[in-house]
Amino acid sequence: MSAVLEIEGLRKTYKSRRRGTRNALDGFDMRVEAGQVHGFLGPNGSGKTTTLRTLLGLIRPDGGRMSVLGHQVPAALPQVAGQIGAIVESPQFFPHFTARDTLDLLAGAGEVPRHRVDEVLELVGLRDRAGDRVKTYSLGMKQRLAVASALLKDPKLLILDEPANGLDPGGIREMRSLVRDLAANGMTVLLSSHILGEIQLICDAVTIISLGRRVAFGPVDEVLAQHSHGTVRVRLE
Ligand code: ATP
Repeated sequence: MSAVLEIEGLRKTYKSRRRGTRNALDGFDMRVEAGQVHGFLGPNGSGKTTTLRTLLGLIRPDGGRMSVLGHQVPAALPQVAGQIGAIVESPQFFPHFTARDTLDLLAGAGEVPRHRVDEVLELVGLRDRAGDRVKTYSLGMKQRLAVASALLKDPKLLILDEPANGLDPGGIREMRSLVRDLAANGMTVLLSSHILGEIQLICDAVTIISLGRRVAFGPVDEVLAQHSHGTVRVRLE
């Protein structure tokens, strides 16, 4: 199997006057194979967001190596940027824009083929509501619009940071089935969560992080069996 993402020995220490020094990543490793829905599981504060933001070039690491599709990042980010679709912050949209206007704007002039906007609207199940203003959307629909925007450039890897956060049970079910549909179409998905049940329901493989280090990884059933037998000791919800 080929790796879409490889991380080796990633280190990041935050130093702030107010919060002191924090070792957010302490030699973290991860490998995500092509076509997987890969869960990134760890308690709050374990280093998930720091890993994802570092991967996207938003934070500078103190050490370690990361590669996406064989290209070292952040150095090669300009070459691979279009291959990574990511939602790592709460999506913000203009409330008076329709979903289609929003995607047309993000698609830019000529960068993305016009028919791609229809394709992504279809993929996330928003085609029927594409002409409605975003202010009429539920949080779950906004989240799916965010996924649509991340898919515009037809990336190879989709990164979702806690996509179920704040969603009601219906929204969570829709997000889950969207992720599975994308995977069935060949997308590789990296999905962070602190909820074990969510990872169990949608992921093929999982990496568990605790205190900035990988404590377990592998096929989801194997790793979660180790966890329930107490071989992997991490406090998870
Ligand atoms: P959560 O699910 O709560 O977002 P996480 O697993 O994503 O948690 P991170 O947000 O990466 O974890 O945080 C890892 C550690 O780094 C935590 O101890 C956190 O308090 C600390 N940290 C994160 N951002 C900063 C920052 N800007 N300055 C100082 N410390 C930080």
